[in-house]
Amino acid sequence: MKMLANESEFRVKVAVRVRPFLQREKNHEQKSCVTIHPQTNQIILGDRRTFKYDFVFGPKTLQEELYRTSVEPMLTNVFDGYNVTIFAYGQTGSGKTYTMTGGNILSIGEKDFGIVPRAVKTIFDTIRSRKDSQITISASYLEIYKDDIIDLLGVNDKDLDVRDDAAGNTIVIGASEHTCHSIEDVVGLLKKGSNVRHTGATQMNDESSRSHAIFTLYIEQRLRDKNSTNVQASFDGLVKPLQSTFDESYLSAKLHFVDLAGSERVARTQNTGERFQESIRINSGLLALGNVVSALSDPKKRTGGHIPYRDSKITRLLKDSLGGNAKTLMITCVSPCTADLDESLNALKYAHRAS
Ligand code: ADP
Ligand code: MG
Repeated sequence: MKMLANESEFRVKVAVRVRPFLQREKNHEQKSCVTIHPQTNQIILGDRRTFKYDFVFGPKTLQEELYRTSVEPMLTNVFDGYNVTIFAYGQTGSGKTYTMTGGNILSIGEKDFGIVPRAVKTIFDTIRSRKDSQITISASYLEIYKDDIIDLLGVNDKDLDVRDDAAGNTIVIGASEHTCHSIEDVVGLLKKGSNVRHTGATQMNDESSRSHAIFTLYIEQRLRDKNSTNVQASFDGLVKPLQSTFDESYLSAKLHFVDLAGSERVARTQNTGERFQESIRINSGLLALGNVVSALSDPKKRTGGHIPYRDSKITRLLKDSLGGNAKTLMITCVSPCTADLDESLNALKYAHRAS
């Protein structure tokens, strides 16, 4: 049984993070085009466009702070049995991977740990503190590239199918799930998958910038409820108590971490007056995701209207973890550079539509 909660609690939350200048940008004396007002959660792009979000993080925000304020509170929901999706959106080089995993998972130090290793730590700490339940953690790591779903931890790279089961759970048929007993186990899987994802890719023409990476933790809890008496009907029709004094009830949740494909337009158009829909026509999956999240942020559509999950692989795969009783955080990453202003504006508009 999942706990009921106020509908407005399920609104998609939106965070924006502006990364610091990189060394090569400093060398080229790049100018900043963003101003942050952390007290009011506002961001000003150029000199007049103002946007407001649930969270606004500036270039000085450390991994720890971003995690503690925007992500950690959602883990309580996971232990209450809600599915949670956290995704990073933004142009290539804006800081999505840094925010999600902490950069190159093969070489990062603890201070740079992104959301995933930090969330995993919180989860294992929680497990240790809960004596009233038995909790198992497993993980899968998938990539969506050119509309194919590939298992980054699997034995082959064939395209996997997505189905909904009778209970409304979304299932990726054949995706491998790996039991994890420690943070090291999880980081090991991240490293293994990231290695597969990066094979043969160069920095400039990186296939990973055009694919979505979905790292999922499955949290399964068997709660022991001392207050209820467990009964069972025997063959003679009499009802008698079971020998155990504990009633085991089962609670499961999925926690998805999604490092989305780069939001930059594949071919930049010269048309400055183009309409918003055209300007974000980048990756059909990102467009479909934007439409789903935007529909979910409309209370009428959310509770009965049509949500276009079927329009892309990414929205089909996340179906049971975006709408309904799920919680979603979208972190939009932007570069501070004036040279990236167009892309940053598109990213902020996309984020605005979600909130
Ligand atoms: P993306 O995944 O969106 O393509 P990356 O996460 O790879 O972008 O970030 C691009 C570069 O900027 C990397 O070198 C990364 O380490 C650096 N970077 C991004 N965000 C930050 C940040 N908040 N603090 C320090 N360095 C960052
Ligand atoms: Mg990346």
